Amino acid sequence: MLPSSSQLRNALAYVAITLLALLFLNLYSARNTRTLMFQAKYTAAQDKLQPIVSAFSGLDALTVENVEQVISVLGDLNVTRVIVTDYEARALYDSSVGQNCVGRYVLFEEVAQALGGNDVFYCVYDSGALESRAAMPVQTDGATIGCVYMMEYDTAQGKIIADLERTFLRGSVILEAAIVLASVCFSIISSGRMRKILTSVRLAREGEYNYKIRMRGADEFSKLAAEFNKLTERLQASESAQRQFISDASHELKTPLASIKLLSDSILQNDMDTATMREFVADIGSESDRLTRMAQKLLVLNRTEHAVELEHEVVDAEQVVSHVFRMLIPLAERREIHLTGDLEHGCLVLSAEDDLYQILFNLVENGIKYNRDGGSVHVKLRRTDDDVTITVEDTGAGIPREALEHIFERFYRVDKARSRQAGGSGLGLSIVRELVARNLGTIDVSSIEGSGTRFTVVLPYFDMEREEGHDEEP
Ligand code: ADP
Repeated sequence: MLPSSSQLRNALAYVAITLLALLFLNLYSARNTRTLMFQAKYTAAQDKLQPIVSAFSGLDALTVENVEQVISVLGDLNVTRVIVTDYEARALYDSSVGQNCVGRYVLFEEVAQALGGNDVFYCVYDSGALESRAAMPVQTDGATIGCVYMMEYDTAQGKIIADLERTFLRGSVILEAAIVLASVCFSIISSGRMRKILTSVRLAREGEYNYKIRMRGADEFSKLAAEFNKLTERLQASESAQRQFISDASHELKTPLASIKLLSDSILQNDMDTATMREFVADIGSESDRLTRMAQKLLVLNRTEHAVELEHEVVDAEQVVSHVFRMLIPLAERREIHLTGDLEHGCLVLSAEDDLYQILFNLVENGIKYNRDGGSVHVKLRRTDDDVTITVEDTGAGIPREALEHIFERFYRVDKARSRQAGGSGLGLSIVRELVARNLGTIDVSSIEGSGTRFTVVLPYFDMEREEGHDEEP
């Protein structure tokens, strides 16, 4: 299977980069090896020419005889060819047998330059051989009386260069082949890992959240897979919460609807007296009121969860408590329940919409609903430099310890019959919890069965002076 295009691109990029790097290394090392060899040859040529030139210096002129005499004394010079010329470039001695040029003019560039008084050295590497040519002037009292020319054709050193370059090239080819192979393997492996992730994403898109990617290692693919697994876990949890909510909501809505149906069927089917009929119709009315309240609360919950930008305003908690008391006094009076308050002044809170009113209303209403006749609901307001603490305490039946952790869940009711009778929907406290959280507060509950319940809400205190100070800062 071919790697996907991005992986192929990466692999080709690795190959191209390493190819360039190896090419550069090869050229660089070849150049360095040759330069080193040339330098060695130069030193060797100097070492060979210098004794010959020194042996000639002091002579008035170079002749065939004195040159041959000196050369024979020096012995084997161990070079390919040596030519000694007079000051006119005429050859006086030539070590070459085949191309001997004694008596003829030597027209080599090196000879011309040496007769001009310069030391000359040329070296080239060609066709596996190292060819070096050097020439040195022979001078007596500052006058050039001739020159010594030397040529060396070294196949042994040429072979060393050729072998070295070949070894480098062979190593590079093997290395590059290994890189190509590794790149292909790597891209196939990583494209396999990518395919695994893509398949899982496709499955998740089709609603299959149970599928988990199992991937070893600690590279980006493994991290991506781990993130994907966490995402599907969250989606799964939120989907099951949503399912649970829909099933709870439909169940809750079904109950009053069934009662309405039952009551209306009874009215239609039975011959009943007017008083009973009135009672049944009143029951239908209260069931539909309950449906309306539930629909309203569901709307509030939905709004709370999905509100993105909210209007905030500074509210005085004391005034909000008074407002809530005014609204709930009729309900409390019906059962002779006393609403009392111990309210500190200046408890300012920054509240989104009328959240604080809704929080207090639900808590005080519950305090009345789940109270005994003649009981009381007490609200206390206290503030510190940072927080406002609101306590709503009642003298009701209390909440069993095992139920305390569930009362903020949607549709949860400790005593279903009692809650329904009191017009409850099991949504009030979940709304309170959402509203407290979105106003950056906390809520706590403590209860003693048979004695009462206390809810404590802590919200950030809005310090007017501190805020104005902030506003005035440049
Ligand atoms: P409901 O609409 O049924 O009152 P809530 O979410 O407001 O729903 O309350 C959930 C349950 O918690 C209630 O059904 C009730 O059993 C219990 N509860 C809430 N407040 C109190 C309280 N002050 N005293 C006793 N029980 C309470």
